[in-house]
Amino acid sequence: MDIDILIKNGLILHFDKETQTESIAISNGKILEIGKNLDRKYQANRIIEAENKIVIPGFVNTHTHAAMSYFKGLADDLPLHEWLSQHIWPAEAKFLSPEFVEDASLYGCAEMIKNGITCFNDMYFFGDQTAKSAEKVGIRAVLGEGVLDFSAANHKNADEILSLINEMHQKYLDNQLIDFAVAPHSIYTCGKANLIKARDLANKLGLLVHIHISEAKQEIEDSLTKNGVRPVEYLHSFGFFEGDTIAAHAIWLDEEEKLILAETNTSVAINISSNLKLACGFMSLKNYIDKGINLSIGTDSVASNNNLSIFQEMSLISKLQKSINEDPTLLPAKDILQIATLGGAKALGKSNMIGSLETGKRADIILVDVQNIQAQPLYDPFSQLVYSLNSENIKDVIVNGKIVMLDRILVNIDELELIEKAKYYQNIIKKFNNG
Ligand SMILES: [Zn+2]
Repeated sequence: MDIDILIKNGLILHFDKETQTESIAISNGKILEIGKNLDRKYQANRIIEAENKIVIPGFVNTHTHAAMSYFKGLADDLPLHEWLSQHIWPAEAKFLSPEFVEDASLYGCAEMIKNGITCFNDMYFFGDQTAKSAEKVGIRAVLGEGVLDFSAANHKNADEILSLINEMHQKYLDNQLIDFAVAPHSIYTCGKANLIKARDLANKLGLLVHIHISEAKQEIEDSLTKNGVRPVEYLHSFGFFEGDTIAAHAIWLDEEEKLILAETNTSVAINISSNLKLACGFMSLKNYIDKGINLSIGTDSVASNNNLSIFQEMSLISKLQKSINEDPTLLPAKDILQIATLGGAKALGKSNMIGSLETGKRADIILVDVQNIQAQPLYDPFSQLVYSLNSENIKDVIVNGKIVMLDRILVNIDELELIEKAKYYQNIIKKFNNG
């Protein structure tokens, strides 16, 4: 039987059984079979020799703003509000256009593939442009169009955004890589009426809702003053969590709020690098895990992170949690890798499709090189991935059964062109930022 790709003799990582040397047969975008000696059974159009590689599911990044890639390093080491109001928002007001978003997203999608991210959950504007860029690079994306009470980018008001989401959803209905989502930005930029409209539209179309919740302490104080209750309780009071929801950050939650997230099956996107860098705070995840809240990993934008390394996020989360809970057994390497892959897939309602290496799932796969000084000796591949390796060790990336990076070279786009364009934008943004 003819197949598209055979990943031959790699160390295939499973969450539910032992890691062993096996091969993966890929056909029509899906994992057809995982097993030994598959080269005898199938005729592959393409064989990837994986003898010195660990093969894992692609990372699922559950909180991004891909089009902010040109703002990486524009302003750092500032408090959240000053960073936003004096640098990021003015730059966005000046530069946001369909063309800018398409270019910047293309760069962001390329950078994600280089970091082994095969699916991302975005929140921004001009989702149609980000969709084009994601398709061009060949990455899977859930694109949350930002809903705000006021005008932003090309939208006059929330109603316009909501009808645009409806339009985009219909347009990409048959697209295997792209989904749209409804992304009310936060409770401080989106009032109750629009939050309810956002939820209703999402439920009507069967879409995910993606929102920032309790990233900074101030949001809790403001909610108590304005609504008399904390942010999660406020949202819960009008049924906001009745439907698939992903809460980005969710740092400053009390016990009651965590119970609400658990009971409503709301997933959390942890954004540890961004939160630590902006000194927004961090939570102990032990309680979230004990309550059964589904956890996933987001990078946030490169403007606040400032990179897209899931290896870094995994390592940081695991070490921080061990340390603050004074428990080195907490979040072992296998668990954190599962959060970065299957946890993300669950958060996006796609765990039957992606997030682990299983027959029948879409082939979103990354191959990590272990024939290098950093990677040996190799006792436990999970430990190596979380504590020793980095994105540079990721050699090949497959999304939806198509190779999008081979031996660290992006297959669908010209990297030099991307770099030159980033330099061009850097010059004009720098001039503006310096005022
Ligand atoms: Zn964000």
